[in-house]
Amino acid sequence: RGKKAFIAGVADDQGFGWAIAKALAEAGAEISLGVWVPALNIFESSLRRGKFDESRKLSNGSLMEFAHVYPMDAVFDTPEDVPEDIRSNKRYAAATGFTVSECAANVKADTGNIDILVHSLANGPEVTKPLLETSRKGYLAAMSASSYSFVAMLQRFGPLMNKGGASISLTYIASERIIPGYGGGMSSAKAALESDTRVLAFEAGRKYGIRVNTISAGPLGSRAAKAIGFIDDMIRYSYANAPVQKELEAREVGNVAAFLLSPLASAVTGSVIYADNGLNAMGLAV
Ligand code: NAD
Repeated sequence: RGKKAFIAGVADDQGFGWAIAKALAEAGAEISLGVWVPALNIFESSLRRGKFDESRKLSNGSLMEFAHVYPMDAVFDTPEDVPEDIRSNKRYAAATGFTVSECAANVKADTGNIDILVHSLANGPEVTKPLLETSRKGYLAAMSASSYSFVAMLQRFGPLMNKGGASISLTYIASERIIPGYGGGMSSAKAALESDTRVLAFEAGRKYGIRVNTISAGPLGSRAAKAIGFIDDMIRYSYANAPVQKELEAREVGNVAAFLLSPLASAVTGSVIYADNGLNAMGLAV
């Protein structure tokens, strides 16, 4: 039986979510996506118009298909949580069922149980501000979109995951080392995400028989990373200093995700796994 996967945080073919989808599709999984509501229209029209066809090519020559594409906004758990200004916003008005609980219910109705849950999303409205200048609102927004969103997803999708299933999120080393420029509470949000990975590995492990890990990825020039502003410097720094001297490809992180989400990693849970060309192991820039 092919595995069923739900991946939250894909809005183009440039980021880690897409690469994870592809690695899972190569391994024979059925893929459904949760796409951030403001990005959904452009994603769906690009998909329809063939803009992603080159990136959709699998090694057997076929194109990666998505079983279902759902609108999603991971900062809302239930319809009651959606404030009026969002509900009436023109990018949200046409979307229905985008809160985490509704999205899980729709996945359950369309697909039944799933085996794989991927959280590849983050958002920090004040990411370009140093932590010392971050507002309470900005900090809490970063935590809500980037950390609590994973707790919310496991709460709502956990009950529809098959025993033996697995989940992952994506994190960044700014949680544990000082990365000037990764601000707005995003470093705090990644620290929470990593700590939650351990606690949720225990709780969801006992409750649902599933595994929970996070991948600490090296720098990639995704859309989210470009918004931070210094991604090219990070890529250069990594190239100059990492033990493996090459640019990180999203595909390499996709492959680590496919491993962690497969039975090959059946004894791995509660872990932060680095996929960063080894940069985390360095103690001194060279
Ligand atoms: P990306 O832009 O491809 O992915 C981020 C996604 O999050 C986007 O699709 C965006 O639409 C979605 N999103 C934002 N707010 C959302 C919300 N409220 N609800 C639902 N979706 C929402 O960029 P990426 O770099 O591939 O990011 C994926 C993950 O990888 C993130 O957790 C990021 O922090 C992490 N990461 C990235 C890097 C890097 O250098 N790019 C390094 C380490 C970790």
